[in-house]
Amino acid sequence: MSLFKVAIIGAGPAGYFAAQALQNSQNEDRLFAIDMIERLPTPWGLVRSGVAPDHPKIKSVSKVFEKIAADPNFRLFANVEIGIDISIAQLQEKYDAVIIATGSSLGKTLGIPGEELTGSMSAAEFVPWYNAHPDFADINVPLDCDTAVVIGAGNVAMDVARMLALEPSELDVTDTADHAIDTLKRSAIRDVYISARRGPEHAAFTSPELRELPKLEHTNVVMSKADIAAAIERVGDTPEKDVKSNLDAMLLIAETEKGQHERTMHFLFQHTPKEILGTNRVEGVLYSTPSGDVTIKCGLVITAIGYQAASVDGVPYENGKVVNTDGRVKENLYVVGWAKRGPSGVIGTNKSDAAAVVELIVSDLNSPKSAGDISQLLTNQRVVDQSAWQKINEAEISAGDLLGKPRKKAVTRAQLMHLGGL
Ligand code: NAP
Repeated sequence: MSLFKVAIIGAGPAGYFAAQALQNSQNEDRLFAIDMIERLPTPWGLVRSGVAPDHPKIKSVSKVFEKIAADPNFRLFANVEIGIDISIAQLQEKYDAVIIATGSSLGKTLGIPGEELTGSMSAAEFVPWYNAHPDFADINVPLDCDTAVVIGAGNVAMDVARMLALEPSELDVTDTADHAIDTLKRSAIRDVYISARRGPEHAAFTSPELRELPKLEHTNVVMSKADIAAAIERVGDTPEKDVKSNLDAMLLIAETEKGQHERTMHFLFQHTPKEILGTNRVEGVLYSTPSGDVTIKCGLVITAIGYQAASVDGVPYENGKVVNTDGRVKENLYVVGWAKRGPSGVIGTNKSDAAAVVELIVSDLNSPKSAGDISQLLTNQRVVDQSAWQKINEAEISAGDLLGKPRKKAVTRAQLMHLGGL
C-alpha cells in the first residue's frame, strides 16, 4: 500500500472535485493524503463568493464539499497564502503532486475610454462585494443614480442585473452581505440595461436562468419581440438545441405582459460599447448599433465580459490561464478548473475536468515521497483548519437561523478568525 501526498491550492469547486477524483481513484494499492490550501479564511470559492444569493439551490453543492472534507486523509489549510506563507517550489518538493485550482478572479476589461471613471466597475468586484468577500467589503458601489448598465450577455451579467433590479427586501432571506443589503435598500436605481454586443442567438445566457426572469415578482423584464423574431429568422429551421431553448425562453419573456413595477430590467442586443461617457463619474455608455450610435444615460456601469486568472508566484501564465497541456504544467505540478481551461462552464463542469487531470496524475505517479508536508513549512500560526472552519460555518448558520436566512456571513478576516476560535 502506497500513500501519496497531494497538495491542492484553492478551495473552490475545482479543488474539491479534484480531491473527490483522487479519493475515488484510491484502491488496495494506493491511498491519497490530501492537503487543501486556501488564501481566504473560508473555503468553497465561488460557491461562497460568486453564486448569486437568490440562487440558494446552486449552493447546496457545498454539502458534497463537506463530505469530501470529512475523509480522515483530507486536511484544510485556509488563511495560507502562496508566495507569502509558502512557495510552489516548496510544495513541489514535499508532495507527490501539486494541483493549482485557483480559478479566474480578475475581470476582463473592455479597453475603451472611460472605463476608469468612478461608477464603472467589473462584476469581479461587484459580485464578491454582495457576497461578503473580505477583500471587497469596502469598495465604493455608487447606487445613487436611476439607471445602471451591465455589459455582457452571460450568466454573470444576468446575476448582476438581477441583483440590481430586484426589490431589495427579497434579499432579506438570503445570505447576501449585510452591507450590500443596506446599500441596495438605499439604491435609487430603477432601470437596469443589460447589453449584448451580438444578437440574441449568440447570447451566452443559459435557458434555465432566462426562464426564471418572468417569475420575478417585483421587476419588469423587457425584451424586444422584434429582436427575438429576427434572431429566430436568422438561425433558420435547424438551430442548435441550446440556441433554440434560449430563443424560446426569450420569446416568452418578450411576450410576457409587464406589471406595474417600479423596477425594470431591459435587454439590448447588437449594442457594442464604444465609450463610457462622463467627466468625473460615469454619465452614460456610447454604443455602436446596426442603426448608428446610441447613448444610454446611466450613473453605474458594470462589465461582466469574462474573467482571467490572477497569477500565482512560480506558475507560468498565458492568455489569462495557467500554461498547461491537458492539466499538466511541469514536473509534478498540475492545474484544474478555470485556471486550466478559462472561465467557462457551470460548477459541475469541474467534476469531469478534475477527473481527467487526476487520471493523468495517477499515470505519472512513481513511488511516494517521504519529504514531510506543509506543516513543516508553515510559520503562520493562524491556519484555519477543518475544525476551525466548521466553527465558522456553524456560527454563521446559527446567526442566520435567528433571522430566517440560510446564514449570516461574517465579512472581515478578523470576524471570521474570531468565529473560528483563532
Ligand atoms: P460568459 O458566459 O463567457 O459570457 C461573457 C459575455 O461577455 C458574452 O456574452 C460575451 O459576448 C461578452 N463579451 C466578451 N467580451 C466583450 C466585449 N469586449 N464587449 C462586449 N461584450 C463582451 O462569461 P460569464 O458570464 O462571466 O460566465 C462565466 C461562466 O460561469 C459561464 O460558463 C457561465 O454560464 C457560468 N455561470 C453560471 C451561472 C449559473 O449557472 N447560474 C451563473 C454565473 C456564471 P460574445 O459572445 O460576443 O463574446
